[in-house]
Amino acid sequence: VAAVVAAGLVLAGGCGGDGGDSGGGSEGDSLKVGVLLPGGGASRFGQFDRPLIEKKLKELCPGCPAATVAATPEPMVQRQQLDAMITKGMDVLIVAAVDPKALRSSVEAADRAGIPVVAYDRLALGPISGYVTFDGEIIGRLQAEGLLKGMGEKADGGQIVMMNGATTDPNAGWFKRGALAVLKDKVKIGKSYDTVGWRPENAYVNMTGAISALGATNIDGVLAANDSLAGAVVSAFGASGVKPPPPLTGQDADLAAAQRIVGGDQYMTVYKPYKPAADAAVEMAVALGRGEKVDSIATGTVDSDTTKDIPAVLLPSVSVTAGNIKDTLVKDGMYTIDQICTPK
Ligand code: BGC
Repeated sequence: VAAVVAAGLVLAGGCGGDGGDSGGGSEGDSLKVGVLLPGGGASRFGQFDRPLIEKKLKELCPGCPAATVAATPEPMVQRQQLDAMITKGMDVLIVAAVDPKALRSSVEAADRAGIPVVAYDRLALGPISGYVTFDGEIIGRLQAEGLLKGMGEKADGGQIVMMNGATTDPNAGWFKRGALAVLKDKVKIGKSYDTVGWRPENAYVNMTGAISALGATNIDGVLAANDSLAGAVVSAFGASGVKPPPPLTGQDADLAAAQRIVGGDQYMTVYKPYKPAADAAVEMAVALGRGEKVDSIATGTVDSDTTKDIPAVLLPSVSVTAGNIKDTLVKDGMYTIDQICTPK
């Protein structure tokens, strides 16, 4: 059953919020919320998601300490982090998995210990109690539509290269399926690569290979799944003497991408308004930590390969080009015009 994210729902439940009295002793005040995020390829998790999650938690539950651990790109390190959270007796966890498969046994252990897990951005495997993310199909479609627009007449029969995310991340396949639904029968996909661990170094090697196999002038566009991969694509073309590169996509609205968009090196990025996602994840976590249901926070349900009908919030994203960067990233306070127009 669809419902809107009910801000204040948890507050109404008495989690230390109504008078701003953080010294109160209601049971909600003592919730320990563990937060685990992936590191590596994209800067968004540490730069945007983490502070927003911590801020919302303070707001909804002033007495609930957030135990956020350092973002890691290593699946095994994240597993140890999660196991340590269980040992420390967290009441609830918010987890953006580096590698959902590698994390599954730890999610199962959390479940056995009675600790609910909210999957954030990437759907973890195992018994998940709630999920908050951006609709990956929409993201892939926005990228493909942006790419075709940037390609102009080459959108009809031109050749592109796809630089996809990591196969260990279920989002990467979701983005790819969304993009292919738009691209199919329109352009030729000369090469398509999955990027190991979303690592830009790997994308650079793959792009260099595509340029030498196809010839730079025969590549009419590149669908890069996020902005750090897009950065590697720009570098690979630059190293082959091609500047600016052909129309290129991204995702995450990294500052470097915003600068490239204004400077003409990247056609578009997908901006995911991180605040509603962070807010919904914290609302779910606090409710679950207090033993409440989250169906009224969810806007629908999703299935993972291990769990059915997970209450989920799926949020839309926004396509950003030079034409609307002011009305999106600048207006939302992500960056100032000065930051975007002054490349490092
Ligand atoms: C996220 C993207 C991010 C990528 C690499 C995906 O799961 O949805 O925002 O760029 O991982 O970290």
